Amino acid sequence: MKPAEFAYHRPDSVEEAVGLLGELDEAKVLGGGQSLLPILNMRLAAPAHLIDITGIRALRRFDEEESGVRYGAVTTHMMIEDGLVPDPARGLLSHAAAGIGYRAVRNRGTIAGSLAHSDSSAEWPAVLSALGAAVQVRSNRGNRRIPVRELLLGFFTTALAEDELITAVEVPRLRADTRWGMIKLARKPGEFAESLAITLVRPGETEIWLGAARDVPVRLPETEAVLAGGPIALDRLAEAVGTDTGSEGYERQRHAVAVRRALETALGETVRGDGADV
Ligand SMILES: Cc1cc2nc3c(=O)[nH]c(=O)nc-3n(C[C@H](O)[C@H](O)[C@H](O)COP(=O)(O)OP(=O)(O)OC[C@H]3O[C@@H](n4cnc5c(N)ncnc54)[C@H](O)[C@@H]3O)c2cc1C
Repeated sequence: MKPAEFAYHRPDSVEEAVGLLGELDEAKVLGGGQSLLPILNMRLAAPAHLIDITGIRALRRFDEEESGVRYGAVTTHMMIEDGLVPDPARGLLSHAAAGIGYRAVRNRGTIAGSLAHSDSSAEWPAVLSALGAAVQVRSNRGNRRIPVRELLLGFFTTALAEDELITAVEVPRLRADTRWGMIKLARKPGEFAESLAITLVRPGETEIWLGAARDVPVRLPETEAVLAGGPIALDRLAEAVGTDTGSEGYERQRHAVAVRRALETALGETVRGDGADV
């Protein structure tokens, strides 16, 4: 199918884009179009105006500081995958980017577009929640900064107001004592995750995040408690993952396998327990 008719705007500056977004009724921001255009083609949405922000040079730049990296909103998955921008998470961002869809999707899809779309099975919502990233947002009413964990409210639902534009994504530097692991389980390459586990292992603490389990990425406190200190109780892992995610049966097992493998990646070793395996 083809989309319903819309007016196309291609502003050159953030000020112009924010002005259009504030003035026009039924306007939508167009980033890489990799989620929005299929939605328009299927006529699940029919905005009167599309504001294409990909021509705004200021949204393509990055700034690196001691504390982390600030990416312009239209930084593409490909730019992160190919190392055209710095990775303050020592390879986690480029690893995550490389697993998104197909190369054609990664060439156009943007980091801010993925967050604004808020699909819990997508890479950036889970990875950037785990890393404690934040977005910078602008509207005619001013600027604000929203932690990604507070931005994502549910399936395709965010804390953004209709007139707000994400201008940048701030990713803090991963602590030097932290090792990461990330596992995406999908039916085949190029598909969205059925499980997306991220583990951050630092002395005395293991932090675990899971995408594709609930309507937003979630941290797993029960599972972290099971893994804390001493030999890892693998037999209790699936149970704890089930408690944290509300999942059962095959789904629970799938998430537990993703968590276990992500943990193994972070530790660099196979994890064995006394009890039944997951
Ligand atoms: C075949 C296929 C496979 C895919 N597989 C995966 C996958 O495995 N993993 C994955 O994570 N993703 C996957 N995607 C989605 C892809 O990553 C998209 O790029 C991403 O979800 C949306 O980014 P975008 O820049 O294309 O945003 P768009 O499609 O342009 O926009 C998405 C939404 O965000 C809003 N928006 C965009 N930019 C901004 C902004 N700066 N400020 C405010 N709102 C904004 C739009 O108005 C729209 O509501 C896949 C897509 C396709 C087509």
